[in-house]
Amino acid sequence: MELEPVRDLPEIRAGDDLADLIADRTTLEPGDVVTVASTVVSKVEGRTADLDDYPVSGRAREIADKIGELTAEEKDPRFAQAVLEESTELLIDAPFLLTETRFGHISVNAGIDRSNVPDHDLLLLPKRPGKSAERIRAGLEERGVDDVAVIVTDTCGRPFRHGQRGVALGWAGISASRDWRGEPDRDGRELGVTVQSVVDELSSAANLVAGEGAGGTPAVVVRDWAFGDLEGSDELFRSVEDDLVRQALREWEFDG
Ligand code: GDP
Ligand code: MN
Ligand code: MN
Repeated sequence: MELEPVRDLPEIRAGDDLADLIADRTTLEPGDVVTVASTVVSKVEGRTADLDDYPVSGRAREIADKIGELTAEEKDPRFAQAVLEESTELLIDAPFLLTETRFGHISVNAGIDRSNVPDHDLLLLPKRPGKSAERIRAGLEERGVDDVAVIVTDTCGRPFRHGQRGVALGWAGISASRDWRGEPDRDGRELGVTVQSVVDELSSAANLVAGEGAGGTPAVVVRDWAFGDLEGSDELFRSVEDDLVRQALREWEFDG
């Protein structure tokens, strides 16, 4: 497997055609996987916002006050409002905000970024990253690039471990996971639970090449990698019924 950064992409703006910009800078072959940072997908989709766009509700003010009381951090209630508007469920309201976004992904601050956003205060995640991935893939097909998969990624923290890594928010032309259940291990025992989250693993690898601050690239091509012929599945986000940690969080409250 090889990871090739797509070099020399410009500053991405609303309305830009990412498929065009990427296809102009690299030669894609069938089977390649193109990862695209959600940052630039959000930019082309005009998902920028300003704090003043968010008239503050009582709930947002409560959240900001609570975080302010419990931590040294001054939380802007307009930011709390933006997070609420991007979310379907608030899982943790202090000492930081953890929510489920409207497309089912759980993330601190609903994945809203304040870095790498020129001219605006906030960059919201794409509304439907799966649809975004499909659009970029269709754009590549229009340019004669067939059988390429697209993954929209974000850099995300994780529970239990320090450090952030790349994860998949949306994908097209590839299954999210490959199912090893029923396959033999080295001793001939059948694997019982292993479902490998391929799109997350590819996103993490690509994120390593994309970089984080200035000077990186928002698009990376994964070459010479094959999904193989195991069954695929598109379930990446657990449902509440299927997630003990989420259920426990509904009962939990931060007490300093
Ligand atoms: P996220 O992980 O989706 O939140 O995206 P990041 O903000 O970490 O950006 C990923 C990489 O793309 C970083 O190396 C950024 O420097 C770079 N990047 C972000 N926006 C742009 C852009 O508009 N143009 C170019 N060429 N690079 C960008
Ligand atoms: Mn991000
Ligand atoms: Mn990043």
